Amino acid sequence: MRLTSFLFLTALGLGLRAAAQAPKPRTENVVLVTLDGMRWQEVFGGADSALFRQSKYYYADRQALDRAFGQATPELRRRALMPFLWGTVARQGQLYGNRPAGSLVNVTNTMRFSYPGYNEILTGAADDARIHSNDTIFNPNPTVLEFLNQQPAFRGKVAAFGSWEAFPYILNDKRSGVPVNAGMRRAPGPGLTPREQLLNELMAATPSPFGEERLDAFTAHYALEYLKRKKPRVLYVGFGDTDDFAHAGEYGAYVHSAHYTDDFIRQLWAYLQSDPQYRGKTTLLITTDHGRGAAANAQWRGHGADVPGADQIWFAALGPDTPATGEARAGQLYQNQVAATVARLLGVPYAPARPAGAPVGAVLGQK
Ligand SMILES: [Zn+2]
Repeated sequence: MRLTSFLFLTALGLGLRAAAQAPKPRTENVVLVTLDGMRWQEVFGGADSALFRQSKYYYADRQALDRAFGQATPELRRRALMPFLWGTVARQGQLYGNRPAGSLVNVTNTMRFSYPGYNEILTGAADDARIHSNDTIFNPNPTVLEFLNQQPAFRGKVAAFGSWEAFPYILNDKRSGVPVNAGMRRAPGPGLTPREQLLNELMAATPSPFGEERLDAFTAHYALEYLKRKKPRVLYVGFGDTDDFAHAGEYGAYVHSAHYTDDFIRQLWAYLQSDPQYRGKTTLLITTDHGRGAAANAQWRGHGADVPGADQIWFAALGPDTPATGEARAGQLYQNQVAATVARLLGVPYAPARPAGAPVGAVLGQK
């Protein structure tokens, strides 16, 4: 073999090996969705019939909800509760956090409530020393959204929507420049669609049962309209009804909100698959900021450092780089891996000052 051929083949081999280690993802856009305080117990097991029957939920006929969500097996119940998650994500993507089956996902912060959880998801690292309350303080830690918004390819193409009024602080919209529509913030003009104008009118005339935290229907449709109009490459949507209804002890409302939030996500995905910028080039990640306690001792309502199990969460992924391996039955993931997974899917190395958890390799098709 001539030396030049040898060098060529060696270079080719190295190149192929490098490509095998870090193939360029097909993902060009990422949509990250969170359901606040949504328990893995309901995600993987469906509605708890015993809790359901105690519920005083005022909104709908309890027996009708029981018929809808009270099927005989966990497989049927979870599918009834979250049809998009179990009909589409589980078949075409990946789901982690079914603890009885052997798949574990945990938070690494010791607080086990919302701001520390969103800080961990969005920055990739717990910060118990500084992020230990839900107070509306501007986050000293830059998030992966802020980092991406600084990259030339993503500048002005990152946006966030949330029901909780703390999101502008968590994402530090002042410093990051990432537009955050959350709480009772209206969609700012100019150029609003008729639907955005209607959402602004409706929100002004719809007092939220949760004070400054708006109902998720507004967050869902503001986000969907923005997606269609502005075509961001990175979109974060933070839903909140599940946590608020659980704290209120309204189990029926909690599972009902899980059900309609699943349908919001279905609508988002349906739009993404209908648009040429997004179709086949967009990864959807879904997770939660914290777990909750067990049903047996009525601690399902709450969460926090003193509630056993509130560190237990779940994680789902669906997209062109993610093999359809479905429900995981082994392994341990952590909340601090989400931020690096978002960046890695977009082909951008993420190395923040406070070291982030590693990307979830399986989401990227790595063994
Ligand atoms: Zn909460």
